[in-house]
Amino acid sequence: MGIARADDPLLAIRDLRVSYKTGGRIVNAVNGIDLDLHRTETLAIVGESGSGKSVTARAIMGMINDVNAVVSGSIRFRGRELRGLKASEFKSIRGRKIALVSQEVFGSLNPVMTVGNQIAEMFRAHDGVSWREGRRRALDLMERLAIPSAQERVRDYPHQFSGGMSQRILIAMAIALAPEILIADEPTTALDVTVQAQIMELLAELQEERGMALILITHDAGVVAEAADRIAVMYAGSIMEIGPTEDVYMRTAHPYMKGLLASMPDLGPSAGGLEPIPGTPPDPANLPPGCAFAPRCPLTSAVCPEVPPVLEIVEGGHATACHHSDEVAALLTPPRERFSRREIW
Ligand code: ADP
Ligand code: MG
Repeated sequence: MGIARADDPLLAIRDLRVSYKTGGRIVNAVNGIDLDLHRTETLAIVGESGSGKSVTARAIMGMINDVNAVVSGSIRFRGRELRGLKASEFKSIRGRKIALVSQEVFGSLNPVMTVGNQIAEMFRAHDGVSWREGRRRALDLMERLAIPSAQERVRDYPHQFSGGMSQRILIAMAIALAPEILIADEPTTALDVTVQAQIMELLAELQEERGMALILITHDAGVVAEAADRIAVMYAGSIMEIGPTEDVYMRTAHPYMKGLLASMPDLGPSAGGLEPIPGTPPDPANLPPGCAFAPRCPLTSAVCPEVPPVLEIVEGGHATACHHSDEVAALLTPPRERFSRREIW
């Protein structure tokens, strides 16, 4: 293993692949992605449901234990390879260095334990503090996360919490041990718009305060425009476009992202704009040999279904995997005039 340098990425993922063998089919959930995450950075991963976002998150967390799953590639944290670590070795990383706020809010909390004790248990297990001290820290965190009447609610059970409040408890548990990387998987799904904005604001605050790197996963490209430094756009288990947020929104270089933006009422051009992308994502057990987006793409030519495009630099850190990237700009009116980082919330 090389010596880690200060400007090395905190997390470096190379050629990550995850597939599942189910019922005689091979589901290719993640198909060779490369991703770097830098210190204090907020990276958003966006893409429709089923594009491989959660599987990527679970792979980073070393949480793909399914006997039918095959994982390959490299995931380095501070230069240290995480792939292949023993469960006992991963214990010092998971939760402590890299934490996940899971997409499944309700299943993630223990229904028969008070939320205060669930947070306290994290401190007990990791720092060996007393229950009393654990509960004191739990209360601190709940107050920090703006849970009203935290003093009383610390003794409540999960079923007494709304979706938004449960989400806050999960965030509290994820940040309890001051991880260097927080992965938030659809942290605002199923929440109303006001609560969504509060949670996003909270994550941004915590991220800044702690200098924590944040991976924000969402199917809603609008939610992350304000929060993310960089955006990775996933489709059918591949990264289609990646780059600084402003580049990806303003100088979109992949027809899929262009379509996603155009279909968003707040971001896309209104009259005369694109319809939401016609068609559906391909079956991950039966991916086309070339570009996975080709069947839905307005720019498809003979090469597209045959040859898989690789990510190529457009400019600086902005890259796209498209055989026709130089035609994307002319595809439709860019949402330039309507794009405002402030208005998106
Ligand atoms: P999303 O982008 O919505 O988070 P996921 O990462 O959850 O998508 O899923 C990517 C693909 O992998 C989907 O087709 C999903 O059905 C499949 N998948 C996820 N987990 C499993 C599993 N345990 N067994 C089989 N297929 C799975
Ligand atoms: Mg998901």
